[in-house]
Amino acid sequence: MAHNSLFSCNFDEFKKIVTDLGLPQFRARQVWDWVFKKFVFSFDDMTNLSKKDRETLQQEFPKILPPVRKLAKAQDGTIKIVIELHDGNLVEAVAMPDEDSLTFCLSSQVGCPIGCIFCRTGVGGLTRNLTCEEILLQVMMLIRKTGQKPTNIVFMGMGEPFLNRQAVFAAIDALTDPTGLGLATRRITVSTSGVTIGIDALAKRPGEVNLAVSLHSVDNLTRTRLVPINRKYPLEKLRASIAAYCEATGRRVTFEMVLLKGINDQEVDAFNLVNFCEGLVCHINIVRFNRFPGVNLEPAGEENEREFRRILKKAGIAVTVRKSRGSDILAACGQLSGSDNEQEK
Ligand code: SF4
Repeated sequence: MAHNSLFSCNFDEFKKIVTDLGLPQFRARQVWDWVFKKFVFSFDDMTNLSKKDRETLQQEFPKILPPVRKLAKAQDGTIKIVIELHDGNLVEAVAMPDEDSLTFCLSSQVGCPIGCIFCRTGVGGLTRNLTCEEILLQVMMLIRKTGQKPTNIVFMGMGEPFLNRQAVFAAIDALTDPTGLGLATRRITVSTSGVTIGIDALAKRPGEVNLAVSLHSVDNLTRTRLVPINRKYPLEKLRASIAAYCEATGRRVTFEMVLLKGINDQEVDAFNLVNFCEGLVCHINIVRFNRFPGVNLEPAGEENEREFRRILKKAGIAVTVRKSRGSDILAACGQLSGSDNEQEK
C-alpha cells in the first residue's frame, strides 16, 4: 500500500521501507539528502537514483509535498501559505525573512480552543489537532517556497501548542534530527497561552527550546477576560511553572504583551508587570494589536505604549516591540484563520 507522506516516518523507519521495497539501503540516505539538504521534492529530479528505483519510490510516495492551496506575499516580504490537509481542513504557516534571518511561524492546531479576544484564530474554536507530519509539511512547504532552510522556528501560528504536546514535541525532535534539517533547539520557540502542564513538560525535555508566554496582564480578572484559559491556569500557577522552567533550563522566558487601549495599557499595569517579573529571567515583547474583521478592540496609543516601555526599562527589564509582519495579507500575530476567503495578493 502506498504511504501518504515521506514526513510520516523518521529516517530509521524510511530505511526500513526502502529495504522492504527491495531497494539498497543507501538509497534511503540519498533520498533524505535530496529532500532535507538540497530541498528537492520530486523523485524525477533525484539524479543519482536509477530510473527503476525512482519509479518504485514514486509509487510508494505519490507526492512528496502537496500543492499549496493559496499563497500570499506581503509588501515586507512575509509569505503566508494555506495548506489543504487530507480531510479538507485548511491550515496556515508564515515565513518572515529579515536581513539575516528567516523565521517560520507554524500552526499546531486547526483553529484554537482558547479564544483570546484579540485573536482571529480563536474565533471559530478548535477543529482538530495537527499531526507531527502535518507540522513538518508546513516547514517543508515553506522551504519549497523560500528556497531556504529557516534560521528560527516559532510555534505562534494557529492553535495552542501545549494542547497538542505529543505532535509538537515529535515535530521538534524531527526538526532537530541531524539526519534531517538538523536545526538547533535554541532556534525553536514554543509560545503558549499559559498551559502550565505543557511548560512543566517542556522543562523536563532535553535541549534548549525557548518558551514564550502570552501574558497580556498580571491581573487575574483582566487576564481571564483576554485569555480565558487563565481560569484553569491562573497567574499564581503560571508564574510557578515559569519559574521552574527557568530554573531547570537556565533559559530566559519571553512574555508577550498585546497592549489594548483602556484594558491593559495603563501605568498601573506596567508597575504590576514589574512586580510579576521580579526574580524571573525574562524579556518582554510588546506586540502591536493587529485589527481583523469583526473585532472592536483598539491598540494602545503611542504615548501609553512609550510610557509602559519606560517603566519596564527603568526597572531593568529588557523590552522590545515586535515588528508587525505581513499585516496586509492577514499573516501577522493573531490574524491567522485557516480561511482561503481572503483576497489574494
Ligand atoms: S492567541 Fe494563540 S492561544 Fe490565543 S486564541 Fe489565538 S492561537 Fe489560540
